[in-house]
Amino acid sequence: MLRIGEMGEKVDLPAQTIRYYERMGLLPKPERASNGYRLYQEPDVRRLRFIRSARALDFSLDDIQEILDLRDHGTAPCRVVMGLMARQIDANDQRIRELTRLRAELTRLHKTGLRMPEDVQMKILIATGRRPNTEGLGLDEAGVELGSRGQILVDAGLRTSNPDAYAAGDVLDRDMFVYVAAHGGMLAVENALTGAGRKYDAGYIPRITFTDPQIASAGVTEAQARQQGHEVEVSTLPMDVVPRALVGRDTRGFIKLVVDGAAVRLLGAHILAPEAGEIIQTAALAIRFGLPVSELRGTMFPYLTNSGGLKLAVVALGKDIAMLSCCAG
Ligand SMILES: Cc1cc2nc3c(=O)[nH]c(=O)nc-3n(C[C@H](O)[C@H](O)[C@H](O)COP(=O)(O)OP(=O)(O)OC[C@H]3O[C@@H](n4cnc5c(N)ncnc54)[C@H](O)[C@@H]3O)c2cc1C
Repeated sequence: MLRIGEMGEKVDLPAQTIRYYERMGLLPKPERASNGYRLYQEPDVRRLRFIRSARALDFSLDDIQEILDLRDHGTAPCRVVMGLMARQIDANDQRIRELTRLRAELTRLHKTGLRMPEDVQMKILIATGRRPNTEGLGLDEAGVELGSRGQILVDAGLRTSNPDAYAAGDVLDRDMFVYVAAHGGMLAVENALTGAGRKYDAGYIPRITFTDPQIASAGVTEAQARQQGHEVEVSTLPMDVVPRALVGRDTRGFIKLVVDGAAVRLLGAHILAPEAGEIIQTAALAIRFGLPVSELRGTMFPYLTNSGGLKLAVVALGKDIAMLSCCAG
């Protein structure tokens, strides 16, 4: 006999979910001990595992009820179908167990501050490593110079040390994004075929990390701007003053703008917020075209959008954000 907590540990489900399945008739009513505890039996554990896996495979509660009824009273053909479904569910169960183990391990490590075990490190390292694959292409014979990591070295127009050869994309070992590769490819072709001499401008490249909330950046950070000798002004606007974030009940994050105080132009924008990736492009355009901050301030942004937060951050430059109007016109 198992108490509900013990049962929950075995199947990795909270007690309230087990009670819910019980209320929905998917589990038989448990016995009651004299002290009022619900007491479950070993077959209930298997039944619960089955329910949990079926839910993870998006089976509805009605479908699960039907499957369980078939299992309890099924005819032979039904058992064959059941066997096939059980195999699918078992495979899923295996994955759930692995994820549960990993989650428990990471929680334990987080609590103890210990290093990650080898297998976890391996998984993360495999996911993060990228390098140019230029060996064996005969680039040396072609007179194309490589850097220390095997990357192809190019000038501002993406021309290599061989004047007839151009390169673009990840093989340059920088700005590794698909839209950068596409843009660089077009630019390299144009320069190679028409001699247009267009320059590759990496200074405004918008970058997004698809976490929750998202992280998006364009241009330089505050520290980089100072290193470059700019007279830096910064505006940091918490999302809890952005009307869109308030009505969407998700006020996590902030918008930080880095401005050249002398030229009064935007140098960088860094946003941690839901849909930050949708906001950043406006800032990237302003950085690319050196738009004066006064022009940004004088541009209408639609109300109840997160990108309206960008306008608020501009208006907030050198001001107390508590004094801002909601619509910051
Ligand atoms: C997991 C993952 C997720 C990503 N997500 C995003 C994203 O969300 N947004 C984004 O903008 N970017 C993303 N990227 C980056 C994006 O995929 C790359 O920046 C982009 O594909 C680079 O394009 P490329 O043409 O330079 O190189 P690739 O797309 O890598 O193309 C290079 C081609 O050359 C071939 N090749 C390599 N070596 C040789 C050789 N020696 N001989 C012959 N052929 C060779 C390869 O097989 C490949 O087909 C992601 C990358 C990864 C790995």
